[in-house]
Amino acid sequence: MFEQEREELVLTLRKRGIKSEKVLNAFLKVERHNFVPEIMWFNAYKDVALPIGQGQTISQPYTVAYMTEALDPKPGQKILEIGTGSGFQAALLSEMGARVFTIERQFDLYNQTLKLFDKLGYKIAARCSDGTIGWSEFAPYDGIIVTAGGPTIPENLKKQLAIGGKLVIPVGDKNSQTMNILTKISESQFAVKESPYFAFVPLIGKEGWKEK
Ligand code: SAH
Repeated sequence: MFEQEREELVLTLRKRGIKSEKVLNAFLKVERHNFVPEIMWFNAYKDVALPIGQGQTISQPYTVAYMTEALDPKPGQKILEIGTGSGFQAALLSEMGARVFTIERQFDLYNQTLKLFDKLGYKIAARCSDGTIGWSEFAPYDGIIVTAGGPTIPENLKKQLAIGGKLVIPVGDKNSQTMNILTKISESQFAVKESPYFAFVPLIGKEGWKEK
């Protein structure tokens, strides 16, 4: 179902500058409509963010593609995601062969998405907790991707990243963030690339925004 819509979406992503064939191929395989409520299926393959309940959103496909291309996960690598949400980003990483660990702070979303992973046959490790403190049991990670916007880069995530690994995280105020792409060079050194004008839901937690 929706094969043609997925191909059109991939064409849009190419036009917007996504070059990684591995990423584009994963977008052809992962069925985004399964990750949004059925009343929004008609919009599932448009390049727009969509509400998924609990005041959260599934990010715009271009943003997901951009972050995944920046992360560049290789088969067998351990990747930690903060902000499971609908599960779409995690499914994409899993489709690319990564071993995915994902954390969601909202219990209802966590529960719903865990069931969806099961139903769709994705083998993804999920937990419900504050992702700003990471998941130390399985560290270090070859890559960490944060899909909510925080005020700063959580120290715990920097610590739990392997040398040579990449951390992709939007940082800024609550309305607009800059995408930070860090590469860990040594325990204390990171190379940083930044690209502006992204908008995410807030990263809430110990090393994020405080809950109202
Ligand atoms: N990657 C998701 C995007 C979901 S939106 C997708 O593909 O659909 C971001 C999610 O981050 C929300 O579900 C929100 O509840 C969650 N979140 C915010 N702060 C968090 C934190 N500290 N730890 C874990 N999840 C968090």
